[in-house]
Amino acid sequence: MPYRCPRCGRETDYREELKGLCENCFREKYALPKLTKLKADIKICPVCGSVKLGNKWIKGNSNNISKVILSQIRRSKVIRGYDLRLELDQFTPTRMSEQLLLDSSATIPAELYKAGIKIRDISIELRVIKQVCPTCQKKAMGSYYEYVIHIRFSGKGYRNNLAKVNKLINQIASHMKSNVFIDVKKIKRGLDIRISDRETGRRLLNKLIRMFNTEARQYFKKKYDPSLNKNILIRKAMIEI
Ligand SMILES: [Zn+2]
Ligand SMILES: [Zn+2]
Repeated sequence: MPYRCPRCGRETDYREELKGLCENCFREKYALPKLTKLKADIKICPVCGSVKLGNKWIKGNSNNISKVILSQIRRSKVIRGYDLRLELDQFTPTRMSEQLLLDSSATIPAELYKAGIKIRDISIELRVIKQVCPTCQKKAMGSYYEYVIHIRFSGKGYRNNLAKVNKLINQIASHMKSNVFIDVKKIKRGLDIRISDRETGRRLLNKLIRMFNTEARQYFKKKYDPSLNKNILIRKAMIEI
């Protein structure tokens, strides 16, 4: 005697995970017809594009954004016992948060699964909340830096070299994004330069090395920032001119 689905009577393989039902009946029985859409919020930093997961801010790529969405929907328990697969093809993986920032909401298609069977399509209404992340807040206040360049003038032509360095800094500063800052402290026969952003720091250092045909001693320092509750890796460089 072939096995038959107890619901519709059709011949089928007995599968315990489907509670003996055929795929069709399983799909129909667990379709959640009253659930028309799922809702989720996402906090995105409009300056750097990072997103908030729990109490941490992480990179705003599609992988992390789907973590944010799924963790919220799982917590709300409306689809307990189901799996949700998001379809993010419409987004560029590394730039997803930037793309979401263009609007205050987005509709994200998803598929609802149970016991490995696709039950149906469902869409997620995502509300986008713009919130400046703590790191960008600190950068804006000038109390955050990722790069430090120490310049020591030991050779001849001190005044002339100092003027050249100042000119270079001004040149770089005029092409920086508005959330980047450079802090220059003048000390005896030297400059201590702090740069909030690693990329800009590296660019300045490379230009200095080329301009003065010199070398830099480079090293790292890890610094714990209590207000951000994280370690910041600070790149340091020492140049003698
Ligand atoms: Zn059936
Ligand atoms: Zn930010």
